[in-house]
This record gives sequence, structure tokens and C-alpha cells, in this order.
Amino acid sequence: MMKNIYQNCTECETQVCLSEMRAHLRTCDQYIEKYGPLQEVTYPETRYPCPLCQYELDETNLLDHFLTYHRSERRAVYCPICRFLSGDGPSYYSRSFIRHLQLRHSFYYEDYIDINIVEEVLIERVLDRSFLEYVHVNSSNIV
Ligand SMILES: [Zn+2]
Ligand SMILES: [Zn+2]
Ligand SMILES: [Zn+2]
Repeated sequence: MMKNIYQNCTECETQVCLSEMRAHLRTCDQYIEKYGPLQEVTYPETRYPCPLCQYELDETNLLDHFLTYHRSERRAVYCPICRFLSGDGPSYYSRSFIRHLQLRHSFYYEDYIDINIVEEVLIERVLDRSFLEYVHVNSSNIV
């Protein structure tokens, strides 16, 4: 029903079919000049910004990315996946983000090269969570 309704673009005065207004605004020079490029709010798939370099990745590539680029990083970072899932709730900060990703967000260990991390993860999986945090605190003191 919107198909045959035409309206003048508020910026360039071109007659545009209403159903194509968004498409027009994306390319309308006057509109872009005035408001900047039209922001698309829907994402085709969920992508998370790398907390260290802001590079956007999906859940599976985030771990690969971290293993490749930030393996030696020891800063505590928030987990973008947990943050996304909890909305505005508290973020999960982790000093060993790679381990966190493997513990909480991935199930395909055979893909990972770093067998030491994998073993640690498997061991820690069976440990009590509070004990786990105790270990983290103490091992970070040693390092
Ligand atoms: Zn226009
Ligand atoms: Zn990164
Ligand atoms: Zn997380």
C-alpha cells in the first residue's frame, strides 16, 4: 500500500516512492551532507568488538583473533559477548580472556593449536568456580 505513494525528499526535493525512501536517503547527497550516512541499526549477524582493538568479529572468530593477535595480552578486558548478552548489566572482566572464551563461549577444542590452554580449560571445567577465582588471583600474583 505504500508502494504508490510518492513524496518529495525533504532534502533534495526529488520525488521518491515512500517504500524506496530509505534507499534514496542512503544515496541522497544533500541528506548525507546534512545528517551523515544513514545508520543501519540491524546487524545481519551478531558481531562483537574485540575489547583490545575494536575489530568486529563473530563469536567463533573472536577466539581465533585473540589467539593470533592478543595471545600475550595480560590486561583485564571485558567480555563483549557476555556484555552483549547481559544488556546493560555488569560486564565480565577477565584477565585471561582466551580462557574465558574457551570456558564459556566455545565447544570446539580440537580446532585450537594451543594444547596447554586447552588442557587447563578442561581441568578447570571440573573445578568449583570460587576455587577457580582463588587460583586466578594467586597465579596473577606470581606472574
Ligand atoms: Zn534526496
Ligand atoms: Zn583485537
Ligand atoms: Zn564472556
